[in-house]
Amino acid sequence: MEFKDFLISRRNALGYSQNDIASAVGYSAQLVSLWEQGKAFPDLSVWGKLCQILNVDLENFLYARDYKVNKICDIYKFDANRFANNLKYLRKKNNLTQLDLAKMLEVNVKTVASREKGTSLPQLSNFLHLCSTYEYKVEELYFCLPHKDETNKKPIKKKRVFLPIFLPIVIVISLGAATTTGVVTTIQRRQKATPIENKTENSILYDEHYHWYVNEKGEIAQKEEHVLKETVIVEVSCGYEGKVLYACEKCPYHYHKTVEPTGDHNFEEGYNFDDVGHWKECVICDATTEFEAHQFIEISYTEPTYDNEGNYEYQCEICGYQYFERISPLVPENP
Ligand SMILES: [Zn+2]
Ligand SMILES: [Zn+2]
Ligand SMILES: [Zn+2]
Repeated sequence: MEFKDFLISRRNALGYSQNDIASAVGYSAQLVSLWEQGKAFPDLSVWGKLCQILNVDLENFLYARDYKVNKICDIYKFDANRFANNLKYLRKKNNLTQLDLAKMLEVNVKTVASREKGTSLPQLSNFLHLCSTYEYKVEELYFCLPHKDETNKKPIKKKRVFLPIFLPIVIVISLGAATTTGVVTTIQRRQKATPIENKTENSILYDEHYHWYVNEKGEIAQKEEHVLKETVIVEVSCGYEGKVLYACEKCPYHYHKTVEPTGDHNFEEGYNFDDVGHWKECVICDATTEFEAHQFIEISYTEPTYDNEGNYEYQCEICGYQYFERISPLVPENP
């Protein structure tokens, strides 16, 4: 069945005029007429309301299938902000860039960006493409419902990685007092070791390994290996590299070594969260872990009446984040 025929058939079955449909979604009857002529398709923001008035499930509505009694669209409301956040969240969770997604959906990257900002909404074909890409049911994506599929509960492998912007700088004043704790893996290019040509008496010369003096007769004296002292310039931490200075106590020779971050993060006990997911942050650096979608359980239900709306209250089992879904007051059936 084509959508236009489906719409006409459902509207007639319920005894509604084009005007009734139009006023239910806040559009003009002319637009409803265009839908019924197959010249336009309703935009995403009104799908939920249309399902409600036509008494169909979202999936049957989108695929213009023989109707089944609507169970979901009476309970949940489409929320444009949550929807936009969820688009961004799902893209990141699937390790896709905006450009990757734009190519997949055959749209401009600006379109992807504006959908994630909530300034535009996907067309039907893109919406269905997103559902199949993320293996989400149409209701789950549309109403931002917790995803039921077990295969999706696997922990997300890729951690969010941040580049350190501010390095914690610890300067150790007393020479030789500090020792490095991390593993030294990178050795920076050492200072050029050209012996200094200096004619004054007892001037010191040095290369990478030794320092020495040249006396007035041009003889080399007191040649010995450098006496290196270690100074921590930047202390290594879990997420930031450290820097250590090695300097000879008896001559100007010196070089630096970089110490790789230990990766031994100190993740806080509590969770950080936003509308769609939760994660833990390292107390020292910007590393995050356990980044995943909320796992909601229903904690209370208030039944709607003809006078008052009801609600579902959900709580994330992991982080405690809560949200409400309002349920519209009951509407008496049209005789
Ligand atoms: Zn030296
Ligand atoms: Zn850390
Ligand atoms: Zn959570």
